[in-house]
This record gives sequence, C-alpha cells and structure tokens, in this order.
Amino acid sequence: LAIQAATMVKAIKVYELGGPEVLKWEDVEIEEPKEGEVRVKNKAIGLNFIDVYFRKGVYRVPTPFTPGMEAVGVVTAIGPGLTSIKVGDVVAYAGIPMGSYSEEQILPASVAVPVPPSIDPIVAASIMLKGMTAQFLLRQCFKVEPGHKILVHAAAGGVGSLLCQWANALGAMVIGTVSTEEKAVQAKEDGCHHVIIYKNEDFAEAVQKIAPEGVHVVYDSVGKDTFQGSLACLKTRGYMVSFGNASGVPNPVPLSDLAPKSLFLTRSSLFQYIETRAELLETAEEVFANVASGVLRVRVNHKYPLAQAAQAHADLESRKTTGSVVLIPDD
Ligand code: NDP
Repeated sequence: LAIQAATMVKAIKVYELGGPEVLKWEDVEIEEPKEGEVRVKNKAIGLNFIDVYFRKGVYRVPTPFTPGMEAVGVVTAIGPGLTSIKVGDVVAYAGIPMGSYSEEQILPASVAVPVPPSIDPIVAASIMLKGMTAQFLLRQCFKVEPGHKILVHAAAGGVGSLLCQWANALGAMVIGTVSTEEKAVQAKEDGCHHVIIYKNEDFAEAVQKIAPEGVHVVYDSVGKDTFQGSLACLKTRGYMVSFGNASGVPNPVPLSDLAPKSLFLTRSSLFQYIETRAELLETAEEVFANVASGVLRVRVNHKYPLAQAAQAHADLESRKTTGSVVLIPDD
C-alpha cells in the first residue's frame, strides 16, 4: 500500500468567529487528492462579502475552517482514475467547498472549470463567483430585457460593477446606488444611467423622480438598510430580488406587504443555479464569453498578498473597496 505524503502549505485559518483579526496565517497540511478530486495551486483568490459573513458567523460552518469560495489555480495532482482533467490545467472554481484562502487546496473535479487561455487568471478569479452571480441574477432569476428599468444597490462593488455593465448591454435603464461621489463616477462608467448617493438622499424618493411608475426589478445585496425602500421602488408586479446582507439581514417581511402591488419576492443564491455540472459550465461560459467580447470590463481594483487577508476584509467591510478584490498567494 502506497503511503501518501501530505504537503505543507500556508493558508488562512479561523478558530473563532469575529473581526478581521481572527484570520490567522498558518502552516496547514494538504493531503493527496482522492478519487474524483484534484489538488490545485492557487494563483489568485477572489475575496467576496460572503467570506465576511462566514468569518462573523452570519452564515455558519464549524470551526476551525479556511475561508474562501473563489479561486483560479493550476492543477498539481489528480485523484486516481480521473481523465477529464490533467496536471498543468488552469482551472477556476466558485462556491462549495470552502477553503480557497490557501496556497494549495483539494477540490472535487466536478467544480473545477477550465479557464480559457485568453482570460488572465487574476480576472478569472474575480468573475467566477461575482460574474456567475451577475449571470444568474440578470439572465435567470429575473430575465432583463431591453426597456426594463432596474435598480442595483452597491453599484460600484464587485458584483454591482458587473451587474451594471451587463444590464446596460442587455438594454435596460440602470439606476445604481452608491455611498460616495468617487463610487458614483465608477458606476456611471459602468453603464448606470442614473446614480443615487444613498448616503446623501432617500433613494426611494430619488427613484420615484426618475421612474414615477416604479422599476421592474430591484437587485438588493445591501439587505437590512435598503429592503423596505427597495419594495417602495417597485412597479406593480415588480420583482424584489434579495441576494445579500452587507448591512445586516433584513427584518422578516409580512406577506401582506407584497399585496398592494402584487410583488414577487425571491431570496436567491448562486449555488442553486449551478447545482449540476451542465448548469455550472453554461453559466461560467456565458461569463467568459462576455469578458472576451468586452461586455464585461472586470475591475480588479485591489490586490493584497493572501497573508494580508485580514486587511482586505477590513477594507471590504468598511466600504473602502470598489470593483473586485483579489488575494495573491506568495510564489
Ligand atoms: P461589494 O464589493 O459589493 O461590497 C459590499 C458593498 O455593499 C460595499 O462596498 C458598500 O457599497 C455596500 N454596503 C452597503 N451597506 C453596507 C454596510 N453597512 N457595510 C458594508 N457594505 C455596505 O461585495 P461583493 O461584490 O463581494 O458582494 C456584493 C453583495 O452580493 C454582498 O451582499 C454579497 O453577499 C452578495 N452576493 C450574493 C450572492 C448570492 O448568491 N446570493 C453571490 C455573491 C455575492 P456602498 O459603499 O456603495 O454602499
């Protein structure tokens, strides 16, 4: 029987939930891949707000754990019997299993998506989770069509930047909300026809002036602070798409709140839209195609060494970042 040696790598580990300081940079052991698995040496790791939820305990997994749900890397070993993938392939992944804040990681081959050579790994690490989120929101959850009026909160963020660019290309009239003038400039560049600085004015009142009959859909990732105002912005039979809690989890909604306008409400997650391998590949390929054609200009506005993940978390949480943030493991 062959004895399989473990490899020592550096990774971030969380032993107790809390602020950015609970992200510890440590030596960890990576096993050899088993049947159906690959080992990947990460080149770039996407930082996502969901990593903050897990670190704080808004979403729960048992401790200790290594955070991270998005990365691009090179396959360094494959499990017995795998033929669909080989050592040296560049692959990307988003979602479960968690653990991308690591120099190397083990993945089920079923979640690894081949990255087209035309796409820079750092860009790819910014669009697996965020780009596929934009895809399912605009193309599956509520299908945006030319002439639709849409409202996107946090329009200068990682997902927000991609949502605005893509929705504009689909022919929608895009209204974005942001917290600062600087972010407003970026949101305009990304195709927002109207930008509201929701720290300075009541966004629901501002939307009412721009679209008196209401918008067809609100994409709300801010949650607690915006939820009620978002409902007020919708037209009759409009779609409230709640997909995040950056400001906190929204309060429970009585169904009767939806009745006066016969509204639709969904609390959506990407992972239910990429459950099968076919769904995953189709969604990823549409994102890659839109990057290749120039519809999506991916803004990788911040890069941090992986060892400094705590600083990256602090900056994301305090609304200092715009566009995508990536963590780079040391070579
Ligand atoms: P962002 O880069 O968008 O960062 C979050 C942004 O939210 C901030 O920049 C800020 O923009 C805004 N915000 C508003 N209120 C707060 C607050 N109180 N604290 C912090 N930020 C606040 O992050 P991501 O692109 O990684 O993710 C965007 C959202 O999409 C997150 O809520 C995330 O959970 C959600 N998401 C959901 C998915 C799903 O499948 N359901 C998948 C992927 C992401 P501003 O300063 O302009 O207000």
